[in-house]
Amino acid sequence: LKGKIITVVGSGLIGRSWAMVFLSGGYKVKIYDNEPGQASGAITEIRKQLEELQQAKMLRGNLTAAQQLSLLSSHDDLQQALEGAFFVQECVFEDLEAKQTVFHEVENLVTESVILSSSTSCLMPSNVFSCVQNRTRCIISHPVNPPYYVRLVELVPHPETVPAVMDVAYSLMTEVGQAPVRLSKEIDGFALNRVQYAIIAESWRLVQDGVISVKDIDLVMSEGLGMRYAFIGPIETMHLNAPEGMEDYLQRYSEGMKRVLNTFGPVPDFSGEPAARIVKEICELIPAEQEHLTVRRERRDHLLMELAKLKK
Ligand code: NAD
Repeated sequence: LKGKIITVVGSGLIGRSWAMVFLSGGYKVKIYDNEPGQASGAITEIRKQLEELQQAKMLRGNLTAAQQLSLLSSHDDLQQALEGAFFVQECVFEDLEAKQTVFHEVENLVTESVILSSSTSCLMPSNVFSCVQNRTRCIISHPVNPPYYVRLVELVPHPETVPAVMDVAYSLMTEVGQAPVRLSKEIDGFALNRVQYAIIAESWRLVQDGVISVKDIDLVMSEGLGMRYAFIGPIETMHLNAPEGMEDYLQRYSEGMKRVLNTFGPVPDFSGEPAARIVKEICELIPAEQEHLTVRRERRDHLLMELAKLKK
C-alpha cells in the first residue's frame, strides 16, 4: 500500500467521507475541488472528525488520527491532484453535465491504466462516462450516507467496463473495510434504490389509503423488518423462516405472496391531497424546522454508529 494514491474530486459531504474511508485503509488521498479554498476547508473538517472518532474509539483502520491526516493533502489544481493516482473517485454535484466534464478533463490528465470511479446516486454509467474515450476503466462506486458507518458500496459497470476493473474496485473497497456488491449491468436506481423505492411506494399507499398512520408504518420497519435487515437480507430471511429452508418456504408461502403482491396499487403520485396529508402527519411528529431535524439526524447517526459497533 505504501504510497498508493487515490484522488477524490469534489470535497463535499461524500468527497470528505470517501477521503476518510481511504485514509483509514492507509492510502494517500489527494482531495480536489474547483471551488477555491473548499478542499483545504475539507481537511479542517476531516481533522475534526478523525479526532472525534479517535476519542470515541470509533476510528477505523490501524493508524492513529494523526497518521491518517499525514496521508491527506488538498489541491486547487486538478493536474497536481491527479499526479501519481491509480484510482479517481469523483464526488461532484449530482449533475450529468458536471460529471461528464470532470471525467473528460480527468481522462486528459491521467494514463490509460487509471481507474475512473463515480459516486453518482442515480445517473447511469453509460451517460456519466459518455465523454470518456477509454470506457473500459470506468465504474460507478455508489456509497450510502454516511459511508463511515454504512459500509455498502454498489459497483456498477459501464457496458464496456472490463472485469479486471470491477475486481480492482472490489478489492479496494474490501480492503478499506467497505462492503462492496457487484451489479452485472447498469439499471436505473441500481439495487439499493430499487428496493428502497419499492418499500417507500407500498408504505405510501398504505398511509394514503387510510390503512395505517405514518407513525405506525415507520414502526413496521424500525421495530419489525428493520430489526433483521441490519443482519440478514430478504432472501436469507425466507430461507430461515421455514423449517426446511427455502424450498419449503416457497411451498408454504409463494401462493400467499403472489395473492398479496397482486393487490399492490399503482406507482403513487407523491403529490396533491394525499401528499399534503402525509407531509402534515410527519411534520406533527417531527417539525420540519432545522433544530428538530438536526436532533433527529444526530440521533440517527449516533444509533448507526452503535449498530456499526454491533456488526463488527
Ligand atoms: P455536495 O454538494 O456536498 O458536494 C459537491 C462538491 O463538489 C462541492 O464541494 C463542489 O464545490 C464540488 N464540485 C462541483 N463541481 C466540481 C467540479 N467540476 N470539480 C471539482 N469539484 C466540483 O454533494 P455530495 O452530497 O457530496 O454528493 C456528491 C456525489 O455523491 C453526488 O453525485 C451524489 O449523488 C453522490 N452521493 C451522495 C449521497 C448523499 O447522501 N449525499 C449518497 C451517495 C452518493
